[in-house]
Amino acid sequence: MLLIHTVSPEETLQLGQMIATLLQPSDVICLTGDLGAGKTLLTKGIAAGLGITEDVTSPTFTVLQVYEAKMPVYHFDLYRLENAEELADIGFDEFVFGSGISIIEWADKFSYCMPEQYLHIAITHGTSPETRAIQIQARGSHYESLIEELKKIAGSCFRNVDTGF
Ligand code: ADP
Ligand code: MG
Repeated sequence: MLLIHTVSPEETLQLGQMIATLLQPSDVICLTGDLGAGKTLLTKGIAAGLGITEDVTSPTFTVLQVYEAKMPVYHFDLYRLENAEELADIGFDEFVFGSGISIIEWADKFSYCMPEQYLHIAITHGTSPETRAIQIQARGSHYESLIEELKKIAGSCFRNVDTGF
């Protein structure tokens, strides 16, 4: 587990870019947190870090937005989905088990549809309007290693890092 407190939108973007440097084909990131927590902003940072120059916005109405970078990036927003059939209709599994990188906002709405292994990033508001607590947890050994690498590079960049146990 890794807990990082960011104190501005820019820091959250920076964290996203840092995470991007550690991603590999087929990686899955599940994002949770209330509306306005910063899920899309973190995704923007990840996308920028992967070399995506297009503007990244929440695909709230389209559910999925695909970006082409070093590898394809599948950006999901499950906020408006009501049932798992709708997920199946958009071919969720083919994307998530494919060779691109999947980033899934509101993953907790359909946690039972997520793969066995993924990186879980939960964002919560902090004590002031521009602070966020960003908790990064691994589901599976592959993501444990990713977090270990992230600890090495994030520790020197962010003031409030708690590396957990
Ligand atoms: P979500 O996708 O979780 O609904 P967004 O990323 O769209 O949230 O919006 C987050 C909002 O919070 C943005 O307007 C952003 O500028 C603002 N914000 C303020 N401080 C932060 C921070 N430290 N990290 C992320 N977003 C922040
Ligand atoms: Mg969003």
